[in-house]
Amino acid sequence: MSQVEESATVAENNTADTFENSRYTRNNPYLSTVVANRLLSGEGSEKETRHLAFSLEHGMTYTPGDSIGIVPENRVQIVAEVLAALGFTGDERVLDHYKFEISFEEALRTRLTIGKLTRSTIGQYAKLSGASGVGGRGYDELKMLCGPDNKLRAEEYCWGREFIDLITAFPGAVVTPQELFNVLPRLVPRLYSIASSQIAHPDRAETSVRVVRYDAHGRDRQGVASGQLGERAHVGEVLPIFLHSNQNFRLPADDAAPVIMVGPGTGVAPFRAFLEERQAKGASGDNWLFFGDQHAAADFLYEDQFKAMQSDGTLTRLDTAFSRDQPEKIYVQDRMSEHASELYAWLERGAYFYVCGDASRMAKSVETALLDAIAAGSQGTPDQAVEYLATMKKQKRYQRDVY
Ligand SMILES: Cc1cc2nc3c(=O)[nH]c(=O)nc-3n(C[C@H](O)[C@H](O)[C@H](O)COP(=O)(O)OP(=O)(O)OC[C@H]3O[C@@H](n4cnc5c(N)ncnc54)[C@H](O)[C@@H]3O)c2cc1C
Repeated sequence: MSQVEESATVAENNTADTFENSRYTRNNPYLSTVVANRLLSGEGSEKETRHLAFSLEHGMTYTPGDSIGIVPENRVQIVAEVLAALGFTGDERVLDHYKFEISFEEALRTRLTIGKLTRSTIGQYAKLSGASGVGGRGYDELKMLCGPDNKLRAEEYCWGREFIDLITAFPGAVVTPQELFNVLPRLVPRLYSIASSQIAHPDRAETSVRVVRYDAHGRDRQGVASGQLGERAHVGEVLPIFLHSNQNFRLPADDAAPVIMVGPGTGVAPFRAFLEERQAKGASGDNWLFFGDQHAAADFLYEDQFKAMQSDGTLTRLDTAFSRDQPEKIYVQDRMSEHASELYAWLERGAYFYVCGDASRMAKSVETALLDAIAAGSQGTPDQAVEYLATMKKQKRYQRDVY
């Protein structure tokens, strides 16, 4: 499943209403120029988070809550390593997914997933090794990983490994570039929440990107798209992009309605867009932002801008949770609990509640804190709090964009 398709299920709001904006799509992307690329995280941060801005053609429009799709490329060094390990030059010709003839090097760089490994790739590779007759001794582990009882083991093997690890461990299986092209998964676009308002920035879309870097199995590795955006998308470079609309993550139509936004880490990106939009429109509704990360000194993304928004009254409340600045870990949901009665009072005033960022843990903890605040504020039971939240959902006053 592509990340764009995935977003329809993972980012739960990207459902049927999700569509790609303008005539540019993932299959027909716009060649955008990078007009800004600067570090957001400070010295001493354990993370690298960057602010990027992409030029837009006249007529390309977006709304806060939308994402930008990046069509990434694999790193040339990794492609060169794969070619060397397979014993090809890269000049060999292959037919791509649309039956266009391209070089094998271009195919590996722009069309195929080699930056991470999946069980399906292992299975397909094992079939190639069987067909090419190399699957003898030394391939027992590969065969074992494909067994129906070894799904978990295969997943463990995939974690932190890339295609290069597979072909180095089990060489000699690929006879022709085309047969490999036919079995490797497609390289798919990655989505990034738009962090800007088009009223404030008519000809560009801005994003906040956490660069994925890790060390695994003896190699330094990086995420395909975020690594490219972090390292190789310098100002002036051209990248294929498209705009991806999300009708289910939207500011209230009523500018006077209060909004509460919970966005730790890069989850803050769409809320910068929301706030810029409300600031530019002079919207009268109150705005409350919960932001969190590891350290205030190094990870307070857009600190100056948010503080200026506090001073000019755009941001009514700003509550931060820096988990590693004190012995006990403090997260955004803890700040919500500390201010539970006020939070409930905002909900009673008709506030819209938004969450963006990590789906695996944060979103659930935030929902629990929200339900607790509702139960305490309404002096109701947990079931009544669930009902209250269900009503908010129906009224589109509880919206999540989690990934
Ligand atoms: C709707 C939506 C909005 C999004 N908005 C943003 C945003 O605003 N900002 C943002 O930064 N991201 C955002 N994302 C996430 C983004 O799309 C990418 O998924 C993310 O940048 C990683 O992509 P990548 O190509 O860099 O990494 P990939 O090449 O896809 O690699 C990621 C993979 O690397 C492996 N991996 C990662 N860390 C480790 C480790 N420590 N050990 C072993 N293996 C590891 C895992 O297999 C992981 O799946 C959003 C996603 C969605 C769906």
